[in-house]
Formats: sequence, C-alpha cells, structure tokens
Amino acid sequence: MNTGKPPTANMPTAAEIDLYQDVVMDHKRAPRHFGTLPAPTHQARGHNPSCGDDVRLSLKVEGDRLQDIRFSGQGCAICIASTSMMTEAVIGRDLAYARDLQRRFRAVMTGEAEPEAAQLGKLISLAGVRHYPGRIKCALLGWHALMQALGEPA
Ligand code: ZN
Repeated sequence: MNTGKPPTANMPTAAEIDLYQDVVMDHKRAPRHFGTLPAPTHQARGHNPSCGDDVRLSLKVEGDRLQDIRFSGQGCAICIASTSMMTEAVIGRDLAYARDLQRRFRAVMTGEAEPEAAQLGKLISLAGVRHYPGRIKCALLGWHALMQALGEPA
C-alpha cells in the first residue's frame, strides 16, 4: 500500500527550478510598473526585516477597477520578481479578481493548494518558492502590501 506521497513530492522538479530562475531573473532585471503614481488613491508599504525587503505600492482605483499600479523600493530577487509579476497580473483588473488571485497565490505558497489547481497563470513560475520556507515571505510581501493598500485608502 502506498498511501503517502513519494519521498520526492516536496522537491522542486528541474523544470520548476529552470522556469523559476528564468522568470524571476527577468523580472528582477527589469521590474514591470516600477516607480510611483503622481496621484494614487491607495498606498501601502511592505517590509520584511528578516530579508531586508522594503516595497511601496501606489494604486489608482476607479470604481471596482485597479486602473494603475506602481511599486518602488528594494528587495531580494524573489520579492522584486513576485511584486513585479503581481503588478502585471492585477493591472486593469477588478478588485475582486485581485483579491481572489492573492488568495490563490497565498494558498499555493503556504501549501494549502497545489499550483496546478490554483489557476495562477504566469505566477505559477513562482510556485517553486514554496519549497523554501525562508523565502515565502519574500514572495508574499508585495501581495500583502496590495491587500493592505486596498483596505486603507490614501
Ligand atoms: Zn526577500
């Protein structure tokens, strides 16, 4: 009887590592939507002292839509790449979509959901981070800041 996971179930596959590095390094080199908005409707700061990640988000929300988003600050490759990919995923989208995507992404990072089932789109490239508990905060920082910003208008 084999009722448990195989011993290798928690190890990233070679493909996962490759994809993870390519996408992460691309976003780290050239972060998308980097900067600040002149007249944001919402702002927040995310700080992760254990790594030194420190990002600021500025949003322009119109009705139920996240019209524009920028981020600035500094952080490790995973933090910057994850925040950059987050901005790409949510810009121009409904707030409900952004909140739902954040829930699904977080569920994958915390091991509550399998990446293949979470419909993350391009964000699945970051799924490998869940194997490195010390880096999960880095990957979630920008997303936490987004939720914080949406809960606290500027
Ligand atoms: Zn970090």
